[in-house]
Amino acid sequence: MGKRLIIAIDGYSSCGKSTFARAIAEELDYIYIDSGAMYRAVTLYCIRKGYIGVGDVRTTDIIGDLGEIDISFVYNPDIGIHETFLNSENVEREIRSLEVSSHVSRISRIHQVRTRMVELQRQIGINKGIVMDGRDIGTVVFPDADLKIFMTASVDIRAKRRYDELRGKNIEADLEEVRMNIISRDIADENRDISPLRRADDAIILDNSRMTVDQQMDWIMEIIRKKIDED
Ligand code: C5P
Repeated sequence: MGKRLIIAIDGYSSCGKSTFARAIAEELDYIYIDSGAMYRAVTLYCIRKGYIGVGDVRTTDIIGDLGEIDISFVYNPDIGIHETFLNSENVEREIRSLEVSSHVSRISRIHQVRTRMVELQRQIGINKGIVMDGRDIGTVVFPDADLKIFMTASVDIRAKRRYDELRGKNIEADLEEVRMNIISRDIADENRDISPLRRADDAIILDNSRMTVDQQMDWIMEIIRKKIDED
């Protein structure tokens, strides 16, 4: 077995980052971490606490509670994925709702929230052998990652994929609403002051608008094998 890598996957909302990251992790027997799930879990906590109003977010309260927000991932062998836990409660399903999606950008732009999440993400990656996806993994969380991929796909294709995914999980969804949410999250993620979504200079671009997961896997596994055999 060659060396164990840190693989960072960033990109726009709903362009298949998690499907791709999970498939790579499975192939290499690495851990897969969905960093977006962590921001979603904090958002769910804030919704439940009533910290998110129509126009404003109670930032001071959120920052004050950060020490009480514990986020972890527990492997569920029945479905083969790590599920997200918020203070010992399995919230994997609830964090995917459109309500959480529509507020998450307002939470993920809070500096102290990001600092805490990045700290947790680095701890999880300490032993390498990890694939993590998000918006700032290659730029901020693991700037020295062994391999960085920046993913994108057309908005219409992304909306349709997210819609199908929600429906597949029996979560109520409207295609146009999903599409508008994706567009507004892209804008918010690219334009926030702290750790905005951007391609790391050394990231490889993958536009998967017209690629199947198998095609993406063939492409990336060749690159990964070369990396593992390097040195
Ligand atoms: O990846 P996902 O769409 O689930 O992420 C939800 C939100 O979490 C994003 O729209 C973004 O605001 C935030 N996020 C982030 N940094 C990451 C991962 C996600 O700001 N590394």
